[in-house]
Amino acid sequence: MTLPIADGAGVRRAARTLVSRHRGALAVVLVLHALGAVAGLAGPWIIGRLIDAISRGAADGTLVDLMFLLLVLAVALQAVLTRFAQFASLQLGETVFARLREDFMGAVTALPLSVVEQAGTGDLLSRTTNDVDAVAQTVRFGVPRVLVTGMTALLTAVAAALVNPLLALVLLTGAPLLVIGTRWYIRRAGPAYRRQLASYGRLVGVIGETVEGAPTIDALDLAQSQQVKIDRALAERRSAEWHTLGLRSIWYPLTTLGLLLPVILVLLSGAALMSLELATAGQVAAITLYAMQLAGPVEELVNWMDRLQVGVTALARILGVGEVPADRESGTEEPADDRLEAEQVGFAYRPGVDVLHDVTFAPAVGERIAIVGPSGSGKSTLGRLLTGITAPTRGSVRLGGVDVMRLPLPVLRGRVALVTQEHHVFVGSLADNLRLAAPAARRADLDAALEVVGALGWVRSLPDGLDTVVGSGGVVLTPAQAQQLALARLVLLDPHTLVLDEATSLIDPRAARGLERALDRVLEGRTVIAIAHRLHTARDADRVVVMSGGRVIESGSHDELLDLGGEYAALWASWHGGAEPHD
Ligand code: ADP
Repeated sequence: MTLPIADGAGVRRAARTLVSRHRGALAVVLVLHALGAVAGLAGPWIIGRLIDAISRGAADGTLVDLMFLLLVLAVALQAVLTRFAQFASLQLGETVFARLREDFMGAVTALPLSVVEQAGTGDLLSRTTNDVDAVAQTVRFGVPRVLVTGMTALLTAVAAALVNPLLALVLLTGAPLLVIGTRWYIRRAGPAYRRQLASYGRLVGVIGETVEGAPTIDALDLAQSQQVKIDRALAERRSAEWHTLGLRSIWYPLTTLGLLLPVILVLLSGAALMSLELATAGQVAAITLYAMQLAGPVEELVNWMDRLQVGVTALARILGVGEVPADRESGTEEPADDRLEAEQVGFAYRPGVDVLHDVTFAPAVGERIAIVGPSGSGKSTLGRLLTGITAPTRGSVRLGGVDVMRLPLPVLRGRVALVTQEHHVFVGSLADNLRLAAPAARRADLDAALEVVGALGWVRSLPDGLDTVVGSGGVVLTPAQAQQLALARLVLLDPHTLVLDEATSLIDPRAARGLERALDRVLEGRTVIAIAHRLHTARDADRVVVMSGGRVIESGSHDELLDLGGEYAALWASWHGGAEPHD
């Protein structure tokens, strides 16, 4: 599954909303730029007038001085106006972009976990980096420049028409080349740039996967096939780049020609019109200057059309993230108590392939349950359903009588938490890392939580204590310390029910003892559902639930199940070689 991409209508709607939100600031920018452009147009007009006056023999020293003064004033005025206009438009661009990025980050963090897992991180990562950068370019500089250059070009044409309408018509000769060339290009550029951006996402994904999975790739000797994958992603990336480059190499020469043609034709036809007395030398000079002045903005405009394509494509990808349907709709009902129950729950990752069948399961408050069973029997999947990470395909999981998918996430997470092997240390201080679970926690609370998991000692011994910066670039924590940190977060979060998915299996056995003691303290007084991989977890549990093929096949205490002599007894025997007496 890939993340959606907004369609044309979606992008236009978003653009309209942005414009209407900043209508006032936009008007100021446009008016300032228009005034600046008009001041800039005075130059050729004055020069034309001067040429005509001189050729009529009507120019004396005062007129020349006056015209020159006007010219200087116009240029100075243009400089001042442009300065303020630039400032206002950059400010507007930054404001719009900041808002856009905030909305986008909101959408990213609201993405259902299951969607992120399925879509892969490469796509999302390239949208949050590459695409956000492309949109930033467009919104900060592209849109303001397009508005300004478009307006300047229009006003220049109007000025030329005021000088000599007939001659001004010649300015239009470049238009067909520009319009046809640009339309040809834009029709092809959209899909080409989409392909280019997608190829980047794929490349980032494959490289990320290779780096993260390096030990596995080494262990399973997958380097060759991984290399093939990277080569294929690179080839696709290269071919996508070549494609867009090919399009540009046709389009750019066409626009250059479209810009030069009017200048040449104005001079040639100007001479003809002069001999017919339909134009004066001053008018030809003024319009030639206008034609040359026009080239700058039009070229910039056309160039931005190209880059806007990238921006619009990137924007569509960014907006697409917001289109992922929410996987839950929070209600206002409050759980009546702390009881978690799964009723007739079924689940399929792929339609038609059920991995859980009619699982009904209700731990008593404070009960310790161990779920055991062969690999692939659906234990982890059940854990994800119980914690409301994924909605069941059939049946329901309820907390205190309320469907977990109807509980707002902060409420649910504060009550039922999933603890897995992955313990991420975020870049920031230790205190920041802990406050992720409880933003309002005071330092004393943080110390208390660290004390519970036995981490206060080593945290205090760090040079900056709780303020020590950890994570990549900071102090590197050992896996055991990272896990203690995760456990301390749990203490702060203080959920009444915990689902442990192989929580300590990756831990160095020497560290495991201490960690298990820490874990025991964290578990105290809570309902615990442990997906068990260690024997004693099952033995010490109040109840053991045995799963096989996506069903609960046995349920009872360790002793009861051993007496039953069924699946659990067999598992126990194979785990323990049947040697250890049960107590
Ligand atoms: P256990 O935790 O008991 O090992 P799981 O819940 O991980 O079992 O898996 C149950 C079944 O669901 C297995 O057949 C597994 O292949 C399948 N499965 C697990 N995760 C996914 C997934 N993300 N997409 C498709 N199938 C999955």
